[in-house]
Amino acid sequence: VLHVEQVTAWMYQTNDKIQSNKDYLSSLDQAIGDGDHGINMARGFEAVVSTIADTSYSTVSEVLQDVAKTLMSNVGGASGPLFGTAFLKLSMGTKGTEEVDYSTFVESMDQAVAGLQQRGKAEQGEKTMVDVWSSVAAYLHQQDDFHPKTLRKIASSSMEETKGMIATKGRASYLKERSKGHLDPGSVSSYYIFTSLADSLE
Ligand code: ADP
Ligand code: MG
Ligand code: MG
Repeated sequence: VLHVEQVTAWMYQTNDKIQSNKDYLSSLDQAIGDGDHGINMARGFEAVVSTIADTSYSTVSEVLQDVAKTLMSNVGGASGPLFGTAFLKLSMGTKGTEEVDYSTFVESMDQAVAGLQQRGKAEQGEKTMVDVWSSVAAYLHQQDDFHPKTLRKIASSSMEETKGMIATKGRASYLKERSKGHLDPGSVSSYYIFTSLADSLE
């Protein structure tokens, strides 16, 4: 089960990783995009933690809803509405109870991936954040409870795999074959999101 405190800890952890890797994320985006991904994400997650710090929550779903809204209005770029959609689906999928059991979380991850794909029109293998989100969702389906170490491994390997891909969606797709050999910035921030989830579960 996921508790409110774990989900808020998840967001604080994510913010820490994003802030300490802000320049790295922007440098990845400099190689195959417009160089603002670190700035976008740092602004968004700073707003997330300041919202969370000012609010008391009784359900996981309410935390996730605030995360979604805050990311939507603060991240900007292509990634803002996408991360916003993903967290909004997680919020909708976990509504109704104070805590969230594993199978409910897995179902809501499916809805998050579907929401991302509907919004961005990207399939797996197109060198976007969808590669990490869909790999994590598929992995969670194979388990019956959270295993933080394996979760970290899956998030890491799916992020690394974007390096060999050619981008066919987003700004990186303008580079065509030249996008190959670079990590996808949104997949690296998604990797921070899921390693932070693993941290909050230990
Ligand atoms: P922008 O490209 O508008 O500057 P960001 O730099 O914040 O936005 O985000 C870029 C990231 O957004 C990419 O690395 C990729 O992971 C993700 N992305 C871009 N377009 C799509 C899409 N159509 N579907 C899914 N993810 C996408
Ligand atoms: Mg960018
Ligand atoms: Mg931009």
